[in-house]
Amino acid sequence: GGQFVFSLLLLTALIGTFIYLLKTIRKQNQSAILRKAFVNNMTHELKTPVSTVMAAVEAIQRFVAKDDKVRMHKYLDISKAELEHLNDMIERVLALDVDETHRVRLTKSTFDLVPFVRSCLEVATIATQKQVKVIFNPDVERLDLLADEAHLKNVLGNLLDNAIKYSDDPVQITVTLKDRTNDVVLSIADKGKGIPAEHLPRVFDMFFRVPAGTVHEVKGFGLGLAYVKHVLEQHAGRIRVQSEIGKGSIFTINIPKNQL
Ligand code: ADP
Repeated sequence: GGQFVFSLLLLTALIGTFIYLLKTIRKQNQSAILRKAFVNNMTHELKTPVSTVMAAVEAIQRFVAKDDKVRMHKYLDISKAELEHLNDMIERVLALDVDETHRVRLTKSTFDLVPFVRSCLEVATIATQKQVKVIFNPDVERLDLLADEAHLKNVLGNLLDNAIKYSDDPVQITVTLKDRTNDVVLSIADKGKGIPAEHLPRVFDMFFRVPAGTVHEVKGFGLGLAYVKHVLEQHAGRIRVQSEIGKGSIFTINIPKNQL
C-alpha cells in the first residue's frame, strides 16, 4: 500500500514540477524554431510514461483488491522504472539538452538490446485497452550496443504505440532483432491499417498525419515519427517503412555499431 501511494505522490510531484518549470522556460522567450520543436517532441515523449504509470497504478489497485502480491510487485517495478525514465526525460527537457544546431544531445552507454526490447514491449502493452499479441524472435541471445538508452526507449515506444494505435483489436506485432557485422537491425511489423503509398514519403515529417476521414481516425500530433527519425540520425542510423493499405506496416531501423 505505502509503495503504491508513494508512486502516486511522486508522479504528481513530477508532473507539477514539470509544468511549473516548463512555464518558466516559456517565459524566457525561446526564439529558435528548432528549439521549440525539441520541446514539442520531448513533451510528447513525456506523456507515454505518464499513461503507462497511470495504467500500471490502476492495475495495482485491482491486484491489491485480489491480494495478488506477485503482480503487484511486478507492476510497481514497472512504475518505478517508468518514473525514473520520466525523470530523466524531464531533466533533459529542462536542460534543453540540444547542441548548437538544436539536435538532441545523446548520452550513450552500452546495454543489451534483448532485455531492452522485451521491456519496451511489456511497457507498450500495459498502456492499452487492446489485446496485444507479440512475437519477438531475436537472432541472438545477447546484443550489446552503444546508444542513448532513454531516447532509444522512446523510439521503440513510439513505433510500438503506433502499431497498436493503427491496428484493430486484437493487435499482432512481430519484432525482429538482427546482429550484423557493422550494424544492428530491428524491425517492428503490425497487421494494422497500413499507410497509403502516396503518403509514405511524408510520415517522418513533423506534424504530418495521414489525412483524417480515411482510416486514421486516431488522435495524435504527427510528432512521434519525426522525433524517431531525428534520434536515429543522431546515432548515424536510419529508419525505413514499408506498408500496404489494409495489410499492415513494417518499420525497420538500422543502427551502426561504430558511431563516429
Ligand atoms: P501520430 O501517431 O501522433 O499522428 P506519428 O508521427 O507517430 O504521429 O505518425 C505519423 C502518421 O503516420 C500517423 O498519423 C499515421 O497516419 C501514420 N502511421 C504511423 N505509424 C503507423 C502504423 N504503424 N500504421 C499505420 N499508420 C501509421
